[in-house]
Amino acid sequence: MKHSDFDVVVVGGGHAGCDAAHAAARVGAKTALITLKMSGIGVMSCNPAIGGLGKGHLVREIDALDGVMGRVADKAGIQFRLLNRRKGPAVQGPRAQADRAIYKAEMLKEITDCPNLSILVGEVTDFVIESGRVSGLVLADGSKISACAVVLTTGTFLRGLIHIGDKSFPGGRMGDSAANLLGERMESFGLPLGRLKTGTPPRLDGRTIDWDILESQPGDDAPVFFSFLTKSTSTPQVSCGITHTNEKTHEIIRANLARSAMYGGHIDGVGPRYCPSIEDKVVRFSEKDSHQVFLEPEGLNDHTIYPNGISTSLPADVQEEYVRSIKALEEVKILQPGYAIEYDFVDPRSLDNRLAVNDVPGLYLAGQINGTTGYEEAAAQGLVAGVNAAKDALGQDPVTFTRSDSYIGVMIDDLTTRGVSEPYRMFTSRAEFRLSLRADNADQRLTGLGIECGLVGPNRASIFRAKMDRLEKGRAMLTDCVVTPKTLNKNGVKISEDGKQRSLYQVLSFPDVAIQDLVKIEEDLALLDGETQSQLKNDALYATYVERQQKDTEALKRDELREIPSNFDYGVLDGLSNELKLKLKVVRPSNLAQAGRIEGMTPAALALILSRLNRSL
Ligand code: FAD
Repeated sequence: MKHSDFDVVVVGGGHAGCDAAHAAARVGAKTALITLKMSGIGVMSCNPAIGGLGKGHLVREIDALDGVMGRVADKAGIQFRLLNRRKGPAVQGPRAQADRAIYKAEMLKEITDCPNLSILVGEVTDFVIESGRVSGLVLADGSKISACAVVLTTGTFLRGLIHIGDKSFPGGRMGDSAANLLGERMESFGLPLGRLKTGTPPRLDGRTIDWDILESQPGDDAPVFFSFLTKSTSTPQVSCGITHTNEKTHEIIRANLARSAMYGGHIDGVGPRYCPSIEDKVVRFSEKDSHQVFLEPEGLNDHTIYPNGISTSLPADVQEEYVRSIKALEEVKILQPGYAIEYDFVDPRSLDNRLAVNDVPGLYLAGQINGTTGYEEAAAQGLVAGVNAAKDALGQDPVTFTRSDSYIGVMIDDLTTRGVSEPYRMFTSRAEFRLSLRADNADQRLTGLGIECGLVGPNRASIFRAKMDRLEKGRAMLTDCVVTPKTLNKNGVKISEDGKQRSLYQVLSFPDVAIQDLVKIEEDLALLDGETQSQLKNDALYATYVERQQKDTEALKRDELREIPSNFDYGVLDGLSNELKLKLKVVRPSNLAQAGRIEGMTPAALALILSRLNRSL
């Protein structure tokens, strides 16, 4: 290949861009991150929070591969909560409320401190194409940058249009201009483009909220972090407030629906069903007379409050009226009205599993541009596109992920094979292997791969190897010690006298048994540190399920060509969501494989259909 200014140029300094550029640079590519303004690096366009169910899993996986999002979120975390704490580890999701300013500052530090990585400021307006391959970029001032591969992570900026009530104006997000020229250029590639929309709530002045009358939600006493390397919080921790909309709020919204950009017919794009605006909630869930609103501080030295749950595209005067009808917000001052934004996205079915555009060699896409929503989904795609653009430029083998090794693999497969009809976000239900794809074992699943392909640096690699050694030793102690129920009962571990011999690892798989309970039988277990003990417990807890799951999935693969009769009644399947019932009735798939390709289809839903088919044999 001819000499270029850079091996990889990443366009965009958002969540996809930062993890893409960092990943490309980590594997040794000379990389540039080019973005509209320096102050835009690491900006959280919407809610100041990272993680949650499914999303927290993605951040853990990014961290396992030495990506940046997890450790930055830990540094910026002002409230940590492990969601679904009372359920099993497979569906627990770490989440943190972040200080916006710290998040941005820490992200900028990660990017500037990263060897092989330069930051350039400018607007990309065009591509340089040579022999059918993208070989560089053109900036608004006419200058050119050459590169072996380009990663585009322009988020909501491609032909972005902001809506507040019946007013609309071009913008990439509030305060930023849209990337219109680049949007037009993308169209010229003949790629399938679509329009999506998303929205954000008004921002409130926390000094004008009556906090005393509100329910308060503190973080967890023992915070669970995103990064496997973080051991403690970096900032003081805060609580959030909880309030609710009421009948009066809903009346105001209903009376003004025609003035909402969404309901007034000003928006064509499809919005995120799982993150509906308050107008959507009032219309779609008309039977509910109240919705919860979390009042989330945006930072330690910032009075701005993010009212999670009331995103809107109503005019500013209506926003003020309905917000002030909510308990504790009667006197509130709105600092910035909520708004909706419509933008272009590229049908991700035009990408391969490296996130490379099939028909445009040298071009990779990651983040919201691929029809996803959320910082975590964006960062995870950034990592995949960044590492593969680098491998492409360096002439090395690609790095790909599968549905059975990671949520990253699930997402890439969903996007590139099924496409999207609405903004895609991650859920644990999207993964058929979710008992093995846990947040707690993301490093066991991925760090080895990261070391092999050069993504993981020496510091994490040595910490990981030491951890694996401890786990191996602990697992060996447990599997080597085989006991009878009699021995267990004699040592205080209550179990039925079924005469079966079991290894202590098998005994540990019983939900009520902890490692401490087994110390009387195998004294050396007491020498294991707390982290190793709790990881062994999680691994043992799921060992039999994981084995069974593997068998079910293999069976499902065999059954993929099972025919579904055209008169099959999806209505009788109790466990099937109404959304899926509707889609199945419309598509009427002729076999299970075709049903599996319907957007939003889950392995659990396929298993339900299969079991019904088996019953009617
Ligand atoms: P972004 O974070 O948008 O970053 C894009 C980057 O590209 C920016 O740095 C920009 O400067 C740069 N850029 C763009 N064009 C050019 C160009 N031509 N040249 C150079 N640089 C360029 N997510 C949720 O999960 N839930 C929500 O409720 C939610 N609501 C949202 C509401 C709004 C109003 C917005 C704007 C976003 C919302 N999001 C929400 C989405 C979330 O912000 C994105 O998913 C996430 O930021 C996407 O990351 P990204 O890296 O793909 O893009």
